[in-house]
Amino acid sequence: MNHIFRNSLLILVIPIIILAAPNVVFDTYFTNRSMRIDFYHSGDKIRDQITLDHVYKEGIWSGSLSNLIDPFNNGKYSYKLYDTKQNKLLFSKGYNSYFAEYRTTAKAAECIQRTYHESAIVPFPKNKVRFAVEARDRNNKLYEIFSTIIDPASVDIIENKMTKDIEIVEYLINGDVHKKIDLLFVAEGYTGEEYEKFKNDMKHFSNYFFTQQPYESNKSSFNIRGVFKPSDESGCDEPTHGYYKNTVIGATFNSMGSPRYLLTEKNKVLHDIAAAAPYDALLIMVNHTRYGGGGIYNFYLTFTSDNPWKDFVFIHEFGHSFAGLADEYYSSSTAYDEFYVSGIEPLEPNITALLNPNELKWKDLVDENTSIPTLWDKDNYDSLSIEYQRIRTKLNNKIAELKRSDASESEIINMQQKSDSTGKKHAALLKNMINENKNYKTVGAYEGAGYLSKGMYRPQLDCIMKSKNADGYCAVCKKRIVEMIRYYSE
Ligand SMILES: [Zn+2]
Repeated sequence: MNHIFRNSLLILVIPIIILAAPNVVFDTYFTNRSMRIDFYHSGDKIRDQITLDHVYKEGIWSGSLSNLIDPFNNGKYSYKLYDTKQNKLLFSKGYNSYFAEYRTTAKAAECIQRTYHESAIVPFPKNKVRFAVEARDRNNKLYEIFSTIIDPASVDIIENKMTKDIEIVEYLINGDVHKKIDLLFVAEGYTGEEYEKFKNDMKHFSNYFFTQQPYESNKSSFNIRGVFKPSDESGCDEPTHGYYKNTVIGATFNSMGSPRYLLTEKNKVLHDIAAAAPYDALLIMVNHTRYGGGGIYNFYLTFTSDNPWKDFVFIHEFGHSFAGLADEYYSSSTAYDEFYVSGIEPLEPNITALLNPNELKWKDLVDENTSIPTLWDKDNYDSLSIEYQRIRTKLNNKIAELKRSDASESEIINMQQKSDSTGKKHAALLKNMINENKNYKTVGAYEGAGYLSKGMYRPQLDCIMKSKNADGYCAVCKKRIVEMIRYYSE
């Protein structure tokens, strides 16, 4: 009964919210500090539950003062603040999370319930607010799954100084945190002796970042800082290799069963450390040589410091984490059982189920002479890819076997080098094939994207969201990144 009432109330309220949204005056509702709301997110493929953990008062609010309502309609969840008197929407942000990914795995489908920790960062309210979290139904419509009143005057709000044992590195400061995108590198698996290495690695990735478009042209919109808390040991966990390291953020390969997927479940520790500096995006830099990483929209990204593909991984994962871009590849194995629901248009801006070719979501970038869908030599490409996936799995298994059996370091290094050079050769082969296509630079709708070989389309033949050797992002990805940069810097 209560449920029915709430739904009908929402239907009435939504049109008012949309009209009222642009009128949120920051100073009327918020102080210039951040509020961090921590909660647990539990369930499986069907069940989806949130329970409150703690609320914190943190440092300066680093987001925009004028853009408070998220216009992008992306992410599987959204957190919102409403004022308690008129139920006016004051703040919203779409996001994805570790739990959102877990829900798409085979284990979640088997009804194995799990719990993950999440944090919402909002401007600190002046008066009581209603904090709500919304999830998507199978048609991608948002509906509320959690709501609670937060009183900013409550003694339950924790205000800690989080700077103990943490060094803050300021690499690039272009101006006011409210008008800049504040990137925060977080050290993971660096010992106290590796502090200089951390600073050098941070410098390397920051410099590389600004060689890529659209970051190069928008360099003045970014501030870059780092937070360093020493780990007891160097590296991170590699469960399939039998290696476990004592590190501050607890990053681990083989996340959700995928060898190259590198994530952390220590969300609370991550945010406690990050609280030492202002940030809009968290970049967890893992001191490791292995290929891997992960990027979750408005959550965090990870990448390794010393792998031959480190620059590609960094830029690719940043695309997921900052701009909510989808993976455009489809031929590599992943941890997901059902990531996109058949017959439903995905939320991400750079892939489409093409349910209505006349309404292609990036049609403003398509020339009228380009046919939709756009044909390409997919069969050839696929047979080359399948062959490489087979070789790659074999080599990865061999490396894991050597490490588990305590083989000599030189044996392991030899096998890793073999794996790296095979990967490079394969990537070069595919790149040649794509570069020779007459449509190489044409924006269209090419079948194969979002882990699906059939029924999902990408904007260009190649993009850094698709392959390692791509010449940067495709036109559609660049456009969304620029929109996101504007959103933060207005
Ligand atoms: Zn793209």
